[in-house]
Amino acid sequence: MRSADVAIIGGAIVGSASAYFVKQLAPACDVVVIEPDSTYEFASTLRASGGARRQFSCPENIEMSNFGIPFIRHADETLAIDGVPAHVEWREGGYLFIVGSSELDALRANHAVQQAHGVRADWLGTDELHAKFPSMNLDGIAAGVHTPEDGWCDPNGLLQGLRRKARSLGVEYVDDRVVGIDNDATIARSLRLASRAVIAAGYVVNAAGAWAKQIAAMVDMPLPIEPLRRFEHYFETPNRIEPLPYVKDTARLAFRPEGRGYSGGLVNSDEPRGYNFDVDHDYFERVVWPALVHRFPAFEACRCRRTWSGLYEQNELDGNPVIGRWSGRMENFLVAAGFSGHGMMHAPAAGRAIAELIVHGRYETLDLTRLDYRRIAEHAPYRELGIL
Ligand SMILES: Cc1cc2nc3c(=O)[nH]c(=O)nc-3n(C[C@H](O)[C@H](O)[C@H](O)COP(=O)(O)OP(=O)(O)OC[C@H]3O[C@@H](n4cnc5c(N)ncnc54)[C@H](O)[C@@H]3O)c2cc1C
Repeated sequence: MRSADVAIIGGAIVGSASAYFVKQLAPACDVVVIEPDSTYEFASTLRASGGARRQFSCPENIEMSNFGIPFIRHADETLAIDGVPAHVEWREGGYLFIVGSSELDALRANHAVQQAHGVRADWLGTDELHAKFPSMNLDGIAAGVHTPEDGWCDPNGLLQGLRRKARSLGVEYVDDRVVGIDNDATIARSLRLASRAVIAAGYVVNAAGAWAKQIAAMVDMPLPIEPLRRFEHYFETPNRIEPLPYVKDTARLAFRPEGRGYSGGLVNSDEPRGYNFDVDHDYFERVVWPALVHRFPAFEACRCRRTWSGLYEQNELDGNPVIGRWSGRMENFLVAAGFSGHGMMHAPAAGRAIAELIVHGRYETLDLTRLDYRRIAEHAPYRELGIL
């Protein structure tokens, strides 16, 4: 039987970030990552749109971005191996949230929290919005917040950079699937794999994204994380538009520049939960395009070139991630999942948090206690209100 100090279930961006930070803090620690698909075909990470922003309401989310965004910005050098850089392709294009009058108070409150946490967040009234983004139709818009130091990157570039760096530091990636966890009431002892191999572990980290609920069920932990299908589209328009940031509109329309066109989508929160990757090829025309044209008439002539689907690992309790130990129950079983659409940007901070809990037994940098499993057990939501 193989044994390891730390066994991480799921080797996409959250699992790889956790492995990388454990090795940063404790180079001698024996870390294995169990990942059944090194192509990451269905992993959410490869289907993400790459946005990284500080516009949240919960201080923990803002602070995770305050760490994660500079990490991503410098990742090409930080994750370089023997002078060969990673390829994260960070673009500091900024984020823009726009709201109508009914959401003005929420935007104002969020803006105040963001500023209190050192975020460069500029409040824009309608005149300023018009001056900065003349292509935008301001019907129904009362104000916006622009965070020019936010941006986006290539999620696969960040994943591959973290994975390669973790491996160069001695992390072993095991090409297998976890099918069971041997445990007693207070301790997780070993992982059973599809190949029938067994890995004994000092700590077990559940970083299985939209599959995290299945892993938690192996130790009888109820975890309210469900797969929520979301479409992402790449589209182009022949019309000229000024350079846009990552725009988040009142209709939950979200898009950003990408190459010669734009990448984005519109989340349907009522989508039935499940592992459904089917693509509805009419969704863009039926749902996204009308919202897009309403806000930016220059998209009247736009063409959707590609649509793909992916899963949000949606925390049904409050839309915030579950990060930390199963305190009071199974202290060596940790969860880093349920990011509900923000797992790429928050992976560096979540990985560091998991590493601190394992190596130091407590948070040393950013206190994420409010995001741990206790609120799930107590059914006490801690809601993110920045998703307007
Ligand atoms: C369309 C779309 C757009 C998005 N846009 C953004 C964005 O702009 N910004 C942002 O920050 N986030 C975004 N997200 C969310 C982001 O992609 C996820 O939050 C993030 O990728 C989660 O990473 P993860 O490593 O936890 O999960 P995943 O990437 O899903 O990885 C989970 C891994 O667990 C593995 N696994 C599953 N079962 C087992 C098992 N039994 N044993 C071992 N391993 C297992 C899987 O093979 C998989 O590789 C978006 C998501 C989607 C779908």
